[in-house]
Amino acid sequence: MRFETLSIHAGQGPDPAYGAVMPPIYQVSTFAFEGVKQPGVFDYSRSGNPTRRALEECLAALEGGTRGFALGTGMAAEATALALLQAGDHLIVHDDLYGGTYRIVTSFTAKQGVAVEFVNLRDLDALRAALRPETRLIWTETPTNPLMNLLDLEAIAAIAKEAGILTLCDNTFLSPYFQNPLALGIDIVLHSTTKYINGHSDVVGGALVVKDADLGERIGLLQNMLGSCQAPFDCFLVLRGLKTLALRMETHHRNALAVARMLEKHPKVRRVLHPGLESHPQYALAQKQMRGCGGTFSFCVEGGEAAAFRLLESVRLFILAESLGGVESLIEHPWTMTHLSMPEDARRRAGITEDMIRISVGLEHVDDLLEDLEQALAAI
Ligand SMILES: *Cc1c(COP(=O)(O)O)cnc(C)c1O
Repeated sequence: MRFETLSIHAGQGPDPAYGAVMPPIYQVSTFAFEGVKQPGVFDYSRSGNPTRRALEECLAALEGGTRGFALGTGMAAEATALALLQAGDHLIVHDDLYGGTYRIVTSFTAKQGVAVEFVNLRDLDALRAALRPETRLIWTETPTNPLMNLLDLEAIAAIAKEAGILTLCDNTFLSPYFQNPLALGIDIVLHSTTKYINGHSDVVGGALVVKDADLGERIGLLQNMLGSCQAPFDCFLVLRGLKTLALRMETHHRNALAVARMLEKHPKVRRVLHPGLESHPQYALAQKQMRGCGGTFSFCVEGGEAAAFRLLESVRLFILAESLGGVESLIEHPWTMTHLSMPEDARRRAGITEDMIRISVGLEHVDDLLEDLEQALAAI
């Protein structure tokens, strides 16, 4: 079955109790045993819950995996995946990525005795040079946040496989509709379902999806041990959002590309970072690896930080807020907002600048979005 069909039906048959056509919210902590030493399908909601299972099966189907896991937030998904590591292991992390990932690997994972090394994974020779006998995991994110750099997932996965190292890809920016890392050889896909998968800015959530059964068992145990699972009501909301993912992603892509093309021609815009533009240095890789670009990208204005702040204060429709992937358009300043948890020199080394603006283009009418940015650019 195809993506649109799976998003509505995978894991979601009519409910066995009363035939409800949509998975009900099983808002319950524990389940009655059928008899002594005879648990039913579910026994306790941390270990498993029917609403959560519906979402997890749907996520697995959409990413082409065998097991999906719904976690409390994107960061809970990160913490659960990082718990696969132990003291003495070596973790390679791409050097330009979500600020919260930077923070957890430097402030938490490193303190657990894991050697954390940042490597520019666009440079495959640098990756090969960084491999050690104790390297256990390579952590990727593509497109990167907020720089919209791309990583060649197939090439990275091939290098890792040869060395017997696990790979993870944070696929939040594209969602399974536009990119499927498992099909390119990546072992673990991670999502902040807070973003496109839920898509309505009304819940926080995370997901992990794997193909390998043993890896699925290990992550399932960690989800249960850590208690990092997502609550039934939130699973219900994410599953409800997921049903329209294909429709939403098509419009996010179309609207964002139209905005990017307008900005590229605008005299007050210094640079547009969008992998769907022919001017993007990795345009060919985008065409090969992704089926679309989603709604989030960045641009730099002429006039430095002061001009960026004036733009942020002049928009009327775009909302000044962190996060991305919702139906509504958002605008933010990575230097002082989403990427503040990265030290200044790390931000600078990655290429984040004070004149950079990140936008999450929503599903409003594209002309309203273009008009809002045009009037705000006229004000800077
Ligand atoms: C938001 C985000 C996360 C963290 O997810 P939360 O749901 O906020 O915990 C991780 N990775 C990326 C790329 C994100 O955008």
